[in-house]
Amino acid sequence: MRTIRTVAELREHLRATHGTVGLVPTMGALHAGHESLIRVAREEADHVVVSLFVNPAQFNDPRDLAAYPRDEQKDAAVAARLGADVLFAPAPGEVYKQGHSTKVVVEGLGEILEGAHRGPGHFAGVCTLVAKLFNMVQPDLAYFGQKDAQQVAVLRRMVADLDFPLEIRVCPTIRDPDGLALSSRNARLSPEHRQKALGLSKALNAAAQHGLQAGEAVLAEYGIAPEYFAAVDPETFEAPGDLIVIAATIGHTRLIDNVKAATPDSRGADPKGAVSVLPTP
Ligand code: AMP
Repeated sequence: MRTIRTVAELREHLRATHGTVGLVPTMGALHAGHESLIRVAREEADHVVVSLFVNPAQFNDPRDLAAYPRDEQKDAAVAARLGADVLFAPAPGEVYKQGHSTKVVVEGLGEILEGAHRGPGHFAGVCTLVAKLFNMVQPDLAYFGQKDAQQVAVLRRMVADLDFPLEIRVCPTIRDPDGLALSSRNARLSPEHRQKALGLSKALNAAAQHGLQAGEAVLAEYGIAPEYFAAVDPETFEAPGDLIVIAATIGHTRLIDNVKAATPDSRGADPKGAVSVLPTP
């Protein structure tokens, strides 16, 4: 695996490759969730690029950005072990050159729920970076996690609206055995807060099986006051719908998660079955 830091070197490298290119955008601190994306990319694409960039533009809280875990050496070892061809790890100044003043904004969808709570700059930051990565790497396939369901919906909108010639692939949420969705931020949870954070997936599963009120009862039991807890349409993120989404701050750590509501047939089945991949439009 080759580590590349500049757009010029990346372009030169990709010009010499053949076949399909798969891109896995990440902010590093790679865990089994990221690994699953890289594995699927490795299976589907001829050439796999993993990008590693902690994007300042999508953080509304400078303390959150400063505390974001960073360990490039370890991430490079993970990406190499999984067979990535390139780790693209540019410095902030390579991505946002002096005078940068363009933003990609997905109106409406990018301004509700996560967009409202993290501020409208959040998804504009995500979309601007991902649009730049799409132009830099020019992938045929781009891999994202269902864990960030609204991000997937916003990026699908952007790809459709701006005619990016690529396909978005969505991979299921990877969880610890006790249900906690993997996140680079979990490392910041104390043992007590990690225990409390289990209330998120438990509330989602209760809501998936028995409706939002059942989920709200679980949240109350765990002493969690969510920023939002709603059943929304997986494309528009407007209520009502069959995707149950939650955001809550546990201690100082903001966590998000989601599951698909159980269909009448799957009700009573293993709640993990409620977690699924967003349908391709
Ligand atoms: P991040 O590094 O947090 O920006 O995440 C990079 C990609 O990994 C995004 O597409 C995320 O949705 C995805 N991802 C993060 N956590 C998980 C998880 N637990 N399961 C599956 N995908 C994930």
